[in-house]
Amino acid sequence: MSEPTRGPKGRVEIKSEECKGCGTCVELCPQDVLLLGNDLNRMGYRAVTYKGDGCTGCGICFYACPEPGALSVYKIKDKALA
Ligand code: SF4
Ligand code: SF4
Repeated sequence: MSEPTRGPKGRVEIKSEECKGCGTCVELCPQDVLLLGNDLNRMGYRAVTYKGDGCTGCGICFYACPEPGALSVYKIKDKALA
């Protein structure tokens, strides 16, 4: 069986000190790649963390986050096969 065609991948970066731990991005991520960490940031919130793989770069978390600057999403285009 051949592998399905892979779409663009993404990467999410989290500034944990900006996160208020509301959990909105965790709830909305269709790939389920975000989770609330156990450690508290300087403001006393459990900041969200990225599982490290599986982000498609859809941007849903970025647009849903109420804290400007807490999340940055990057698209990573697959290299064309030579
Ligand atoms: S960009 Fe999309 S897939 Fe990536 S972490 Fe955010 S909601 Fe999830
Ligand atoms: S939506 Fe924003 S503030 Fe809420 S947990 Fe996610 S990164 Fe933190």
